[in-house]
Amino acid sequence: PARPVFTGQLPAGLQTISNIVAVSSCKGGVGKSTIAVNLAYTLAGMGARVGIFDADVYGPSLPTMVSPENRLLEMNPEKRTIIPTEYLGVKLVSFGFAGQGRAIMRGPMVSGVINQLLTTTEWGELDYLVIDMPPGTGDIQLTLCQVVPLTAAVIVTTPQKLAFIDVAKGVRMFSKLKVPCVAVVENMCHFDADGRRYYPFGRGSGSQVVQQFGIPHLFDLPIRPTLSASGDSGMPEVVADPLGEVSRTFQDLGVCV
Ligand code: ADP
Repeated sequence: PARPVFTGQLPAGLQTISNIVAVSSCKGGVGKSTIAVNLAYTLAGMGARVGIFDADVYGPSLPTMVSPENRLLEMNPEKRTIIPTEYLGVKLVSFGFAGQGRAIMRGPMVSGVINQLLTTTEWGELDYLVIDMPPGTGDIQLTLCQVVPLTAAVIVTTPQKLAFIDVAKGVRMFSKLKVPCVAVVENMCHFDADGRRYYPFGRGSGSQVVQQFGIPHLFDLPIRPTLSASGDSGMPEVVADPLGEVSRTFQDLGVCV
C-alpha cells in the first residue's frame, strides 16, 4: 500500500523497518498496552522480526509487561544512537528503560523525547514496529504520526457508548493523516462465569463503529484474568484468538509475515 502522508524526511533509524503499526486508544486503561504487547509477540510467534516502541512517556507500561534481562537502554556513544533492549527476540524501547522514572514534562518536550527515542534507535531490520501510542488524539499523537510513516493503525476501545465517541475521534485523526485503521479491538467485552456470559459494559457500540466508519475488522477480546496476571508478571501471554486474527488483517494490506 501507499505510504501515508507525513511531513518529514524518513529518519535514518526507521529505514530498515517494513511496517509501522500504531496501537491507539483515546482513554487510558482500556488495554491498549496489553494489546500492543500481545500483538507484537503474536507477530513474532508467526516468524516476524518485531520491535515495540512504548510512546507513553507519562505512564510507560512496557517495563511492567515484559521482563528483559537488561532493563536499561544502552547508548552507542560514537554514533549517538540507542540500542534497544530485547525480550524473547522482540526489540524494546521505552522511556521506562531510560532510567529516569516517570516524566513531568510539557507537551512539546514530550514530543521531542518521543521523537528522539524513536528515530535515534538502532532498530535494525524489522518486519513490524508496533507503537504503543500515548492515549488520546492531541498534539503529541499528531506530531508522532507526522514523524513516522505509519502503515496502519489498530484502535483499542471498550464496549461502552461513551467509548464510541472516542473511537470516532481516533478514526478521524488517522484518516486525516491518511493512515488506514485496519481494526478495532473491543476489549473487556464479556466474561463467562457459572455457565453464563456477562457483558459488564453493554453491547453494540463496536458494530456501530464498523458500520459508520467502514473499519474492515472488529475483534472482541474478553476479560481474561490470565491476561491481566501476565501483564503484571512481565511474561506476555500470546492471545492466539483474536490477536492472531488482528495480525492476519495486516495481510489485507499486502503485508505478509
Ligand atoms: P492502557 O494501555 O489502555 O492504559 P493496559 O493495557 O495498561 O491499558 O491495561 C490496563 C489493565 O487492564 C492492566 O492491568 C491489564 O493487565 C488489564 N487488562 C487489559 N485487558 C484485559 C483483559 N482483556 N482481561 C483482563 N485484564 C485486562
